[in-house]
Amino acid sequence: FHTVRLILGDQLNAQHSWYKQADPKVLYLIAELHQENTYVTHHVQKICAFFGAMAQFASELGDAGHKVRYLTLDETQDFADLNALLQHYVAETGAIKFEYQRPDEYRLLAQLSQLKLANAVVNCVDTEHFLLPFDEIDREFPQGQHRLMEHFYRRMRKRFNILMTDGKPVGGQWNFDASNRQKLKSQDIKSLPTPLMFGHNVQDILARLQRHGINTMGKADTRLLWPINRAQSLELLQYFCEYCLPAFGRFQDAMTQQHPSQWSLYHSRLSFSLNAKLISPLEVINAVIEHYHANPFIEIAQVEGFVRQILGWREYVRGIYWANIPNYANINALEATRKLPDYFWHGKTRMNCLHHALSQSLDYAYAHHIQRLMVIGNFCLLTEIAPDEVDKWYLGVYVDAIEWVEMPNTRGMALFADGGIVGTKPYAASGSYINKMSDYCGSCHYKIKERSGALACPLNSLYWRFMDKHRAQFTHNPRIAMLYRTWDKTDEATRQAILATAEQHLAQLERL
Ligand code: FAD
Ligand code: SF4
Repeated sequence: FHTVRLILGDQLNAQHSWYKQADPKVLYLIAELHQENTYVTHHVQKICAFFGAMAQFASELGDAGHKVRYLTLDETQDFADLNALLQHYVAETGAIKFEYQRPDEYRLLAQLSQLKLANAVVNCVDTEHFLLPFDEIDREFPQGQHRLMEHFYRRMRKRFNILMTDGKPVGGQWNFDASNRQKLKSQDIKSLPTPLMFGHNVQDILARLQRHGINTMGKADTRLLWPINRAQSLELLQYFCEYCLPAFGRFQDAMTQQHPSQWSLYHSRLSFSLNAKLISPLEVINAVIEHYHANPFIEIAQVEGFVRQILGWREYVRGIYWANIPNYANINALEATRKLPDYFWHGKTRMNCLHHALSQSLDYAYAHHIQRLMVIGNFCLLTEIAPDEVDKWYLGVYVDAIEWVEMPNTRGMALFADGGIVGTKPYAASGSYINKMSDYCGSCHYKIKERSGALACPLNSLYWRFMDKHRAQFTHNPRIAMLYRTWDKTDEATRQAILATAEQHLAQLERL
C-alpha cells in the first residue's frame, strides 16, 4: 500500500471526499482500541453502538471497493496505545503516507500530533462534517470570553440561508421559545410517539468486552436499540419528521413518568448518528425543512426550535470547546468539590425526578436535554459536585457523549464551572421548575411546596443556599437581582430554617 488512512470511531462519514474513488493503493484502518474504552467508564450500549457502527462502516466501505482492515479488541490488545498500533501497521504495509481526519477531541488530536513514523509522512485533513469551518472558530469564539449563542445562531442562519426569506427570518421572528416549551397534559401524553428502535445483535461485542475485562455502566441488551449505519440513521430522521417534528418545540422541555415506553417524547435521538457522523448536520436540517414545506400543518415554531439545536447549539458548543480547551477541562469557578452519590450508578433515590432521569439514562444511555440540564445537571450544580466527577459520568453514560459536545454542556451550561463563558448566569432552579415542566412531584417522597424540614423537596432549600452562598458573584446580574429582593423580604427565621435544611440534605447526600 502507498497510503494508510485512519478512521476513528466518530468519523463514519461515508460522504467524505476520501471515498469518492476506490484506490487499491490506499488502506483504510478502523480499530477497536483499549485506550478509547478505558479513559472513562462508558455505558455498555455506547460501546456497542460505536463498535457496531464501526464494523458496519468497514463492511460498507469494502462493498464499495475500498481496501479496509478492521481490527477488533482481540487484535489491538498487545499495543500500548493508538500510536504504537499505527507505527506497527503503517510499517507493515510499507506505506509512505499516513493520513487521518482531525479528531474532534483534544485528547486524540494531541496524541496524533505526537505520532512519529519512520518511513511515512503524516497528513491531517478535515472531517467535512461541521458547518462552521474549523479555522474560523478562533474568530467567532475568542478564548475565555462569553459569546451569546443567539447572535452566533442568527449569523449561521444568514450565512447558510436557512429559514430565511428576503434576508428576514421565516415567520418574522428568530426565536419562538415563548410559544414553545409547554407541559404535557394528559391528552398529550396519550398521543406520544413510541421511539423507533433497531435491533442489531451485539452478542459478539458484549462477549468481547467481557473477554477483555472492559468495565462498563448501565443496562446491557443483546439487541441494540441505536442506529448503527447510515440507512438506519436516515430512517430515524424520517421517523422524527413524521411523528415528532409536529410537536417538537412545544414539548421540548416537558418530562413525564407516565407511559415510560415513550421515553424519548418528541426528541429525535439523532445525536449518536450525528456525532458518529453517519449523517451530517446540514442534511438533517434540510430534511426537516423539506418536510415542513411539504406539510403546511407543521408550525414554524416547531421547526425553528429544532434547527436552532443543530445549527445553533451544536455548532456553538464545538466552537466553545476548541477555543478554550485544554484549560477548559480544569476550570472550576464555583470551587465545587463533592463526590457523585452512588445512585448515579443505580438510580435508586427518593427524589422522583432524579430517579427517573438517572434510571432512564442507565437503561437507554439517553436522556433528553432538560433531564440532563435541569434535573441531573441542576442537582449537581446545587450540591456542588466536582466538575471532574460530573464530566466523567456524563462522558460515560450517554450514547452521544464525546468530549467536544459533552464538556461545554456539562462544565459550562449545567455547572457554571467556566465562570460564564457559555451562560451569563447559572441554570439553577428550585423544585418549582421541575413541578412546572413534569408530573414527577405528585408521587415524590418529598413535598414540593415545602422549603424546610426533612420532607421538604431538597432542591428548594439547596437552591436558596446556592443563591445565598454566591450572592457576591451574582447580585449584580440584572437577571438575578429580583430574586435576591425576594430572599431579603423573607423573614430571618424562615431563611435560617431553609439554609439549615439544605445543610442537612448535603450532609446525607447518599441517602436522599
Ligand atoms: P434533540 O432534542 O432531538 O435535538 C436535536 C439535536 O440537536 C441533537 O441530536 C443534538 O445534535 C443537537 N443539540 C441539541 N442541544 C444541544 C446542545 N446543548 N449541545 C449540542 N448539541 C445539541 N449532546 C451530545 O450530543 N453529547 C453529549 O455528550 C451531550 N451532553 C450533554 C450534557 C449536558 C449537561 C447537557 C445539558 C446537554 C448535553 N448534550 C449533549 C446536548 C443535548 O442534551 C443532546 O444533544 C440531546 O439531548 C440529544 O438527544 P436528541 O438527539 O434526541 O436531541
Ligand atoms: Fe424532584 Fe422535588 Fe419534585 Fe421530588 S418534589 S420530584 S425532588 S422536584
